[in-house]
Amino acid sequence: MHDTSDELEAKGWQDFANCLGVDPDLFFPERGASTREAKEVCRGCVVREDCLEYALANGEKFGIWGGLSERERRRIRRQRALTRRTALDGEATADGVGA
Ligand code: SF4
Repeated sequence: MHDTSDELEAKGWQDFANCLGVDPDLFFPERGASTREAKEVCRGCVVREDCLEYALANGEKFGIWGGLSERERRRIRRQRALTRRTALDGEATADGVGA
């Protein structure tokens, strides 16, 4: 999560975040520092999926969101883009486009 209290009110899922009250610095470790502690907090979080989807949808580039690091989220974004492209190619072929 990592947002201001105003934004918090607007997004209900954040009220259930396991990291409420936890030092935000933990979720934004220095380059090369351990992400283990932050991921431990995320592991037991009931809104982990919401948090991850929020980060993916908003292109959050820094920090641990939904228990995943920037690099791990980038990998998911790439996989999803590939899946979308493959699905679109399939549709185009089925329509006779590009065949
Ligand atoms: S998944 Fe982690 S960063 Fe996201 S709300 Fe839960 S504890 Fe916080």
